[in-house]
Amino acid sequence: VHDVLIVGAGPAGAVAAIGLAQNGHRVVVVERDRFPRTKPCGELLTPRAVAAVRALGIDVDALGHRIDQVRLTFNDTDSRSRRRSTSATWPGGTHAVVVPRDRLDAELIRCATQLGAELRDRHTAVDPIVNRGFVRGARVLDPNGATVELKAAYTLVADGANSRFGRALGTFREPTWPHALAYRTRYGSALHTAAEAELVLGLRDHAGVPVTGYAWMYPRGDGTVNVGVMVLSTSPSFQVINPVRLLDAVVAEHADAWRLDAQPADPPAGGRMPMGASVGPLGGPTYLVAGDAAGMANPLSGTGIEYALDTGRIAALVLDEALTTGSAAALQRYPRLVDTTHGTYFKVGRLACRLFGNPQVNMRAARLAAARRPAAEALLRLAANQLRPGWGAAEALYRAGRAVAAVAPSA
Ligand SMILES: Cc1cc2nc3c(=O)[nH]c(=O)nc-3n(C[C@H](O)[C@H](O)[C@H](O)COP(=O)(O)OP(=O)(O)OC[C@H]3O[C@@H](n4cnc5c(N)ncnc54)[C@H](O)[C@@H]3O)c2cc1C
Repeated sequence: VHDVLIVGAGPAGAVAAIGLAQNGHRVVVVERDRFPRTKPCGELLTPRAVAAVRALGIDVDALGHRIDQVRLTFNDTDSRSRRRSTSATWPGGTHAVVVPRDRLDAELIRCATQLGAELRDRHTAVDPIVNRGFVRGARVLDPNGATVELKAAYTLVADGANSRFGRALGTFREPTWPHALAYRTRYGSALHTAAEAELVLGLRDHAGVPVTGYAWMYPRGDGTVNVGVMVLSTSPSFQVINPVRLLDAVVAEHADAWRLDAQPADPPAGGRMPMGASVGPLGGPTYLVAGDAAGMANPLSGTGIEYALDTGRIAALVLDEALTTGSAAALQRYPRLVDTTHGTYFKVGRLACRLFGNPQVNMRAARLAAARRPAAEALLRLAANQLRPGWGAAEALYRAGRAVAAVAPSA
């Protein structure tokens, strides 16, 4: 019997395994894929994610390609000067890093196994073992197709956006809250070592209807650029948007500027992303849910690695307390701790998703952000969750959103 069974070896599961193993607990991580595995992702570690990975003692700059600034571009079909572009730096001299997901996730799980956690890759958790109403591990399909029982005092569900294991335990996504579709691909490019990434705002679907979301070009420093799109469910034509077609249109429009090869290095891949803490409950008496399995991506940007790392870290703290004190009561603190850390920001983000679902608001904000550097930097601070003390534009907007959120309990 293990102390903790972790389902999923993405950032959420790996960081929890690190936290638990370094406190001497017996941890087993089951992972469906063979490691190292890749995962459809923009692969951008925001400055907050960079700090979180660095706090684990990992030299994150050595793992990937450093991004010092971001160019915001807006294709203004209503104006004669069609394309506007402004460069913005990350707040406070911080930087982002683009890290291939196979490399990042392998490094995180390597830290966990070095500390004593056991990784069983090519093992799929099929359903929970429930004993007198308490989850006590999982039945797991091994690489030979045999079912093995992995028993544990506690279970952490970190199986990503689709979270079949979480659903088996009763988690569900709040259907009226915003979610997103995100797809990415990779192209060879002579500009792969650029220190500037690009975000394209003001996208339109094939019928010319504004899309709430953005496209990205993230240079990877390895000969390729990661290109992708994120579309929010609050987009007016969300039900009929084909994200792969949108991605193709973005590539066609920006291929020359980014000197992209004629053919992609990878086919487009992606999927549906729950966001803004839209999945719950976050646990039960003997299990917790973290990362994308709990819908923890940032609703303002779609980035989820930092929140997967954060919820995995908090889950490990709570599970450590339960194991050390011998009382499962510690697990009850987890939803409150997550809410205290991210609840208000996510709620403001969910409100903003609805606001930007209005095409006029969306287009005006995009035009403004791409026209003036202070506006671009304000948007970056807001979307990257790097607000600073004082009354800058981003901070004032956030406070206004927070005031609205306070009187909108179900937002
Ligand atoms: C196209 C796209 C682009 C994105 N770009 C960015 C970005 O640039 N920056 C950013 O911060 N975030 C980005 N995200 C979000 C980010 O990828 C996720 O938020 C992050 O991977 C969440 O980590 P996680 O550990 O919760 O889940 P995952 O990374 O999805 O890990 C879950 C793991 O669980 C395993 N698993 C699933 N089911 C089982 C099972 N039954 N048994 C065993 N194992 C199982 C899976 O194989 C997987 O390895 C993007 C997402 C998409 C779709």
